[in-house]
Amino acid sequence: MIRRTCWLLATILLTGATLSAQSTSRPLVIYFVDVEGGQATLIKTPAGEGFLIDAGFPGGTGTFQSTPGAPESARDAQRILAAARDAGLTQIDHLMLTHYHADHSGGVIELAQLMPIRHFIDHAAPSAEAEVVVPGTQALYDAYVALRAKGTHTEPKPGDHLAINGLDVVVVSTAGEVLPTPLDGAGATNSACASAGVPAQEKTENPRSTGIRLQYGKFRFLDIGDLSGPPQYALTCPRNLIGEADVYLIAHHGGADGSDPAFFAAVKPRVAVFNNGPRKGAQAPTFATLAQMPSIDGWQLHRSLNQGVTNLPDERIANLDESTSAWIKITAQNDGSFTVTNGRTGQTKAYPR
Ligand SMILES: [Zn+2]
Repeated sequence: MIRRTCWLLATILLTGATLSAQSTSRPLVIYFVDVEGGQATLIKTPAGEGFLIDAGFPGGTGTFQSTPGAPESARDAQRILAAARDAGLTQIDHLMLTHYHADHSGGVIELAQLMPIRHFIDHAAPSAEAEVVVPGTQALYDAYVALRAKGTHTEPKPGDHLAINGLDVVVVSTAGEVLPTPLDGAGATNSACASAGVPAQEKTENPRSTGIRLQYGKFRFLDIGDLSGPPQYALTCPRNLIGEADVYLIAHHGGADGSDPAFFAAVKPRVAVFNNGPRKGAQAPTFATLAQMPSIDGWQLHRSLNQGVTNLPDERIANLDESTSAWIKITAQNDGSFTVTNGRTGQTKAYPR
């Protein structure tokens, strides 16, 4: 009887230990929110905080010509709010804007009226030339600076680590500069480099994108916004400064200037995500690059109608047309394993460690 009681007690203790081990290693969750070819990447950290990278377009119809309006009818801010509710988040603890174009920073004014934003991470003001190339950039920036004054603000340098509980988030690029030295374990010569990179389609704000490599245990996620041209090239050529990542949000929505095979060869993602719209981003050269690399699973936020594109299988496309606004959701464990869920179908694909 005593032996049996001891055995039972041991079992209860062991079960308790297992439960507490599980509860101390909560997953990292990433939502690639459908903002119709802009960017809004919502991360729920294992510590339960909200980390948002970009906030989509402003306004009810969400175009480059739109301006911030009523938050209740703001298309992209409402979609970010829906993802936050799904994640159980009630505030954005950290907001990072990759750059000051309307498809990335436009939705922030409306979002701030829907949920509190505490900490702002960004880079210095856009140039006068940026306003000429993309009119409206300066007005969005000015409105953002007024909003930012209500919270705390960080303007990091490449190589800085962002203060986000439970994660190692290192800035790999910002304001046109990139890491001066390789990250730990990186730095190998990249034999896939061509003599020059792919030119940037937009040469003012996109190459100034603030990019990060996020690490949770053995899992890594790379997001460089619309970084393109020479700074993108410098991250992996002639040496790979950033190492490998499990999940990569393809630069500039998967446009042609995000297609450099040398970049993919260096980062070796298992999953590469297109945050594209029906006619934005996701251009044929990037699909051609992925087609050469069968070890990489591409996932698309939208089926692309761009010329020459062979779309990925439907099960890896969140929105087949504009009648839905489904997200792609990643759930990652600190052992490096993760799953990808298609928000339209609810189907999940597992990527074991
Ligand atoms: Zn963009």
